[in-house]
Amino acid sequence: MDPLRTEPIQRASAARIAPAAALVGLLLLIAVCSALGQQAAEPQLFSQSAKATLERNFRSPDLSYLLLDGSGKVLAERWATPPDLAQQAVSPGSLVKPFLAIAYGEQHGGRFPTVRCLGTESRCWLPRGHGNLVLEEAIAQSCNAYFLELAAGVDRKRAAQSLSRYGLAGPPITASAESLAGLGSAWQETPLAWARAYLQLVNEQQLPLQSRIVKGMLGSAAHGTARAVDAALGRNAALAKTGTASCSHTPRGAADGFTVVLYPAAQPRLLLLVRVHGVTGAASAKVAGAMLRSLGAGER
Ligand SMILES: [Zn+2]
Repeated sequence: MDPLRTEPIQRASAARIAPAAALVGLLLLIAVCSALGQQAAEPQLFSQSAKATLERNFRSPDLSYLLLDGSGKVLAERWATPPDLAQQAVSPGSLVKPFLAIAYGEQHGGRFPTVRCLGTESRCWLPRGHGNLVLEEAIAQSCNAYFLELAAGVDRKRAAQSLSRYGLAGPPITASAESLAGLGSAWQETPLAWARAYLQLVNEQQLPLQSRIVKGMLGSAAHGTARAVDAALGRNAALAKTGTASCSHTPRGAADGFTVVLYPAAQPRLLLLVRVHGVTGAASAKVAGAMLRSLGAGER
């Protein structure tokens, strides 16, 4: 009898099918890992080929980027002022929000409010508003109303201590609540500091507070402001966060879009931070997705 035509609950058939299924699964896993596999085996080679690929395919002068491996080592970079590159401090808009959430959570026993966003009248970027939001969805949607409320409930001195554990200087102690929520440009850190702070945050995702923030970043890439990332790399492929900042270039553009992506989501081996002149954070997420895709991320 053909084993494939018997009832699946028969153990004898199941026993014959299982090794075949396991083999298919293994081959699939090898296929998925092959592109990035060389990164683990030959980090130097991966870094060189990543550099060359990004330089060849992403030449726009409007684009700045920083690519790190899972340990925080720089694999490739192009920022405003070579050869110093990522040494110039930037204020990346809503990229600050997860770190405000850390500071707030540590001061409130890990408890977060539900906030009702009414849109424009709540000073949110989405005119019609986000409605009632909990922390995870507020990160995914980058809701200003939610984080303005967190900023109003944070002690600045204690916040500075929380932030310093992530290598962040934080905004000046006199800066407004808006700056703490990523509106305005008072909170500046170097791109490398932002990137490594995100890496540390994600590496702490076994902790209750950090795991909620990482869940928000998974949601951002899946259906939030960074959804262009999963659109490029596949469902639940990455963790991401976007930011829309006022433009720091001359001549001035409407905005500078920032996106940070950690790939793959479960155990990130790559972190990509991009800034794209003249676009929103959501639009810069599309560029970040395409860049990671060009490095072999998301292939199956
Ligand atoms: Zn909102």
